[in-house]
Amino acid sequence: MRAWEKNIRRVAPYVPGEQPKSEKPIKLNTNENPYPPAPGVKQAFKEMDAGQFRKYPDSTSSELIKALSEYYQVEENEVFVGVGSDDVIAMAFMTFFNSELPILFPDVSYSFYKVWADLLHISYETPALDENFCIHKEDYYKANGGIIFPNPNAPTGLLLPLEEVEDIIAHNQDSVIIVDEAYIDFGGESAVRLTRKYENLLVVQTFSKSRSLAGLRIGYAIGHPDLIRAVNDVKNSYNSYTLNMPSIKLGAEAVKDETYFKESLERIVKTREESKLRLKKLGFSFPDSMANFIFATHKDRSAKDIYKALRENHIYVRYFDQPRLDNHLRISIGTDEEMKKFFEFLEVFLSD
Ligand code: PMP
Repeated sequence: MRAWEKNIRRVAPYVPGEQPKSEKPIKLNTNENPYPPAPGVKQAFKEMDAGQFRKYPDSTSSELIKALSEYYQVEENEVFVGVGSDDVIAMAFMTFFNSELPILFPDVSYSFYKVWADLLHISYETPALDENFCIHKEDYYKANGGIIFPNPNAPTGLLLPLEEVEDIIAHNQDSVIIVDEAYIDFGGESAVRLTRKYENLLVVQTFSKSRSLAGLRIGYAIGHPDLIRAVNDVKNSYNSYTLNMPSIKLGAEAVKDETYFKESLERIVKTREESKLRLKKLGFSFPDSMANFIFATHKDRSAKDIYKALRENHIYVRYFDQPRLDNHLRISIGTDEEMKKFFEFLEVFLSD
């Protein structure tokens, strides 16, 4: 081994879902929104002056922060923005999880949590979900260095009712609690309003799913001004210019159009509920998802075989080759047309 090699930081990275190169794939594998962003986003993009890109962007992303603070009716100093919620959560890990005690997150949840904890040398415990993939709030009634969980959970789609979220926070006022609400707009009640009641609560959301802007990489957190100040200090000690100019501008545009936002959510929820019925008819079972995906297992065909067969036909779903998850498929909700093709294929494949 060369001398410098022993100093390399070795990590087992997070593996993002595949972005297929094939022509016109049916892409149900990364929980993107199948509909375009609000029309105002397209218009503002057209009007953008590329000449401006010679300058650095506004390091405080004030236009975007203002739009978000108006939408959530909070002060601007209660909002933090980052390059997707991945960046926001990574910054929050760096800022808030510095205790000798382990942080807690469910054994089945967003697989990036473990990667950040390992990278930052944060110790952690992972209370097990029960056999129905449910979180037991009592598992979080113990001393800890912080807590994070997605709500709805990923990849299960299960929603923890807001009273139970609050119960976990109420039992843990000595550490920072992060509720990762990447999928909350598809059917849950957000914990944002609890941030005024609990100073140690940080709620994280994203533009990647409900706002159809995964490509712009915008995420945000809402919490007490002291939490926001602390995470901004860490961000500014790492990279001051995180969001680029188009993301700041177009993100703000997306937030302004509430009518379009609600309509596209309704369409996805309708397709999700119809998809649940069709999956059941085909012999699948799944936790009752409140997100824009369904985590399904089939009564007699292996998830891996179904995944492979779909993939050969340019239909992409997410398969996790991990204990507890390896007989499930996570199927993102596409357009009605995409879901029609997905089901047509499955009907033929499963009747073989
Ligand atoms: N949290 C959860 C639970 C997710 O599934 C994702 C999407 N991979 C993210 C956070 C990160 O999303 P983004 O960085 O696109 O905002």
